[in-house]
Amino acid sequence: MSLSNSNTHKFSLLKHLRCPECGLVHNAAEINTVCNNEDCRSTLFAEYDLPQVLNPEQFLAGRPANMWRYHEFLPVINPDNIVTLGEGFTPILPLANLKAEAGDNEVFWKDESGNPTGSFKARGIGMAVSKAKELGIKHIVTPTAGNAGGALAAYCARAGIKASVYIPQLTPKVFKDECRLYGADLVEVDGNIADCGKLANDDAVQNGWFQVSTLKEPYRLEGKKTMGYELAEQFNWQLPDVIFYPTGGGTGLIGIWKAFNEMEQLGWIGKERPRMVAVQSTSCDGIVSAFHGGQSRSEFKDSGFTIANGLRVPKPYADKQILNVLYQSKGNAIAIDDADMNDAVKHIAAKEGMLIAPEGAALWVAFKKLKAQGWIKADECVLLLNTGSGYKYLENID
Ligand SMILES: *Cc1c(COP(=O)(O)O)cnc(C)c1O
Ligand SMILES: [Zn+2]
Repeated sequence: MSLSNSNTHKFSLLKHLRCPECGLVHNAAEINTVCNNEDCRSTLFAEYDLPQVLNPEQFLAGRPANMWRYHEFLPVINPDNIVTLGEGFTPILPLANLKAEAGDNEVFWKDESGNPTGSFKARGIGMAVSKAKELGIKHIVTPTAGNAGGALAAYCARAGIKASVYIPQLTPKVFKDECRLYGADLVEVDGNIADCGKLANDDAVQNGWFQVSTLKEPYRLEGKKTMGYELAEQFNWQLPDVIFYPTGGGTGLIGIWKAFNEMEQLGWIGKERPRMVAVQSTSCDGIVSAFHGGQSRSEFKDSGFTIANGLRVPKPYADKQILNVLYQSKGNAIAIDDADMNDAVKHIAAKEGMLIAPEGAALWVAFKKLKAQGWIKADECVLLLNTGSGYKYLENID
């Protein structure tokens, strides 16, 4: 297929959903959650009729600077269903004063903090809500560690869809206030996100609401994958050597990897891939243990509160997919504690003029540790994905 093929007038080239584990194909015109195979229940991946697109610059020229510029490779069929607040096309920023601490490495932030509702959750939730609108869904529910709830509340307000959000009591007040202001029903839960997930599931099943909890719904992944397209475009189709990602449920990590595979099929990048690094909190480091133990799945791990609320995910639903990406990319996994994250938030703010989320600040600590260990080589180009704004976390910072 080439650019002139008749397929390219379609707004979306979505073909179907496929289970990456058992291969079962699912009809994307229907409402889907996880794999229908009772013994499998894996996260589903959207597949597209990917053409060869010889000149990405020409293909993308004049398109809006938001995540919908890649609409052929996104799941919304009819553009009228797009629910947008301008998410995506966030800046790549080279280190400023921290450069002196980075040695020979060129290090960049991709700064997601300017997204609607202050985090990259806007991409995934914006996509899921748009697709839910297209499928006629009227009420959406999610458990949240913080940012997903605010994003869901905002995008549902915009879409005229009812939202219910289940949030741990130990989440900073602003995350709760924004949900209420956006008109969502908020349920505060005395527990972690896994406890929120159970309650959300019970109420959803009972009331027939649609759940968008991480990777149990196919389209948040498609929103987060746009980070992969964007960073390739912004780096002029030469990917960085190493990408650091703060891993909760792992949507962005899996999504960026999926984008790389799609872009290879499009002819936009070659076979080479960055090494992907999952950064967790020492409070919830099941992926780190599983990775270093060479396992294919992680174990439930929760040692309580962390200032990086988004990283308190005791057992990611798509742990197998996360670990696959780490193994395939010859990547790494490392856990950072709250004291180091707290210091890094303050240090980065004072040196860089960026008040970033503790999740993002953890990456700077992780970079320095892996550099000190020699795992990051001199002259390697490194990308740190700052996933959210620090402004919502001020009560967590000492
Ligand atoms: C949700 C969140 C994460 C983790 O994202 P996953 O896709 O669940 O891995 C990281 N940082 C911030 C700021 C978040 O809100
Ligand atoms: Zn399956």
